[in-house]
Parts: sequence; C-alpha cells; structure tokens
Amino acid sequence: MCVKHLGRYDAFALTEVKTGEIEVLDFSESASSRECVERTIGEYVAPTYVGGAKSRDYSALVERLVRMGHESPFEFIRCGWERDDNARALGIEEVIKRWNPTIGDILKRKVLTVKVSTSIVVARQWVRHRTFSFAERSRRYVSGERKPFSFYFPAEAGNKAIVKDIIGDVYDYAVDGYAELRESGVKAESARFVIPVGVETEFLVQGTVEAWFNFLALRTDKHAQADIRVIAELIVDVINTLPDLEGFREELINYAPTYVLKAPPEFRPAREKLVKAFLRRLGLGW
Ligand SMILES: Cc1cc2nc3c(=O)[nH]c(=O)nc-3n(C[C@H](O)[C@H](O)[C@H](O)COP(=O)(O)OP(=O)(O)OC[C@H]3O[C@@H](n4cnc5c(N)ncnc54)[C@H](O)[C@@H]3O)c2cc1C
Repeated sequence: MCVKHLGRYDAFALTEVKTGEIEVLDFSESASSRECVERTIGEYVAPTYVGGAKSRDYSALVERLVRMGHESPFEFIRCGWERDDNARALGIEEVIKRWNPTIGDILKRKVLTVKVSTSIVVARQWVRHRTFSFAERSRRYVSGERKPFSFYFPAEAGNKAIVKDIIGDVYDYAVDGYAELRESGVKAESARFVIPVGVETEFLVQGTVEAWFNFLALRTDKHAQADIRVIAELIVDVINTLPDLEGFREELINYAPTYVLKAPPEFRPAREKLVKAFLRRLGLGW
C-alpha cells in the first residue's frame, strides 16, 4: 500500500456548527517504489493540480508535472526515496533534491499528513505556516458543476439566527450568480470570483514535527480564531489517541523542550508558556 488511510474525523465547534473535517493519511510508504511515487502523486496530490490525471496513467501525469515545473507535489514524497533507482529516469529525484537538499536526512524524518476540508477563511490562515507542504484542490479546473460548492458558518456566531439568515442568503445569491456566469460561457476560473470565503476548500497538508509543533501550539492557543482552533484541537486529540501516531507523538514531545531551549533568552518565557499549554493538551505536564 502506498498511502494508508488512518481515519476520518469531523471537527465541531462548541455549538453544532461544523467547522471542518480531516482525514489522517500515512505517506511513509509512498516513496518505496516508482509505482508508489506515481500512484501517490496521481491519486492523492495531483488531483489538486491541473485538474488531476485524465486517466489512471499516473506516469504520464507525473512527467507532465515535472515538465510544467509543478514541483511542490514532490515535496510530499519524503521517506526512503533513495531506495528507488528507477525514479532517476523521470528526473523526479533532481526535483526532490532541490526542495530537500539534505535528502538523506529530511526525507527520512517522520511526517504527519492530513487532508482537510474547511472554509477558505481557515485555509487562508493555515497556509501562512510556510514550513508545511500544501496541495489544494483547484477551483480553476474543478468547476462548481463538477464538484458543487459547500459552505461553512462561522464557529462562534454561526448559530445566531441573523448570522445564518444573512450569510445563507449571500451564499444562495453567489451560487446563482456563478451558475448564470457559467451558463453565459464564463470560465470556472473567472466565475469563482463571486464565491464568498466561507466556501469549502480541500487541501493536503504535510509537515515534520517542527512544522506541526509550531502550528498546533499557535492554533490551539486561545488567541487563535475558533474555526481553526477547533480543527487544531481535533488534530491534537488524534495524535493523542491514534496508535499509528505514537512515534510522531513521542517526537513531538521530545521536540518541545529542545524548542524552548533553542529560543533566544528574551523569547523563552513566552515560548515556555506556549509549550506548557501545548504539552498539557498532549496529556503531559512539563
Ligand atoms: C492568533 C494569530 C493572529 C495572527 N494575526 C496575523 C495578522 O494579523 N496578520 C498577519 O499577517 N499574520 C497573522 N498571523 C500569522 C502569523 O504571523 C504567522 O504568519 C503564522 O502564525 C505562521 O507562523 P510561523 O511563521 O511561525 O510559521 P512557519 O511559516 O511554519 O514558520 C516556522 C518558522 O520558520 C521561519 N520561517 C519560515 N519561512 C521563512 C522564510 N521564508 N524566511 C525566514 N524565516 C522563515 C518562521 O519565522 C518561523 O520561525 C496570526 C497568527 C496567529 C496564530
């Protein structure tokens, strides 16, 4: 198996308003053979790019991505890459080395990969965390007819009648406008300008312990917006309870003290506070 599905989880706010959904994926075997590299990219990463594979000929798709300079899908292929000599023929190894110059080290690091469905509001905040790798479903190539739009209500105010009424009306109006534009021949990439930021998007996010630590500490903090905080808290729960993530959890816990000690002295008290709160969420006092 190239990519293992470890589980799908729903994120709810304190109220019944849904704020997102995650699926935890294990990419650790994805680089074990050329077939796995192509299948992982073809089935999981590239559907978000250039409309995905037209057929199950993932080999052609991968070559097309390399030719077009779409290198970021290859960031997802990390572990054990050097085992696959065949891959050199594709030139993918060179692409990956450019992203990961310390190939022997970084590619063997543990990563956590999560597929997230949530609003563009949350996604917009999430992509500020640059040390992750991302692949987001294209709304240039995947039109509203091919995949109808879904929308979210804000976690903290979404149950108020006035919020639901007004936002709901705007969503209806936007979808009608989109359909009208499409019917008059406007491309999906242009028609989407009418769609509000509460619309659902879907993206894959992969990161090392450092990237996840930084994200989870900042986004489970009380200052984070509730919509992203609920999802971050859900990910911490999953890390705490999913047996497959035990190794990752241990690395995360070991990293935390190192993280604080490496901080310049003037930042240590603030970071220590963040780290302590985060470790408490992982069920540990520190
Ligand atoms: C509560 C809250 C409120 C926020 N409000 C705002 C806001 O009003 N406006 C706004 O613009 N942002 C805002 N942000 C986003 C915030 O400033 C960060 O961009 C975001 O949290 C990502 O954090 P990071 O840079 O540590 O993460 P990452 O991008 O994952 O970076 C991790 C570490 O690597 C370093 N790093 C990464 N890439 C580079 C690079 N290219 N060059 C040098 N160092 C790099 C970072 O400095 C950081 O130390 C907010 C975040 C939170 C949690």
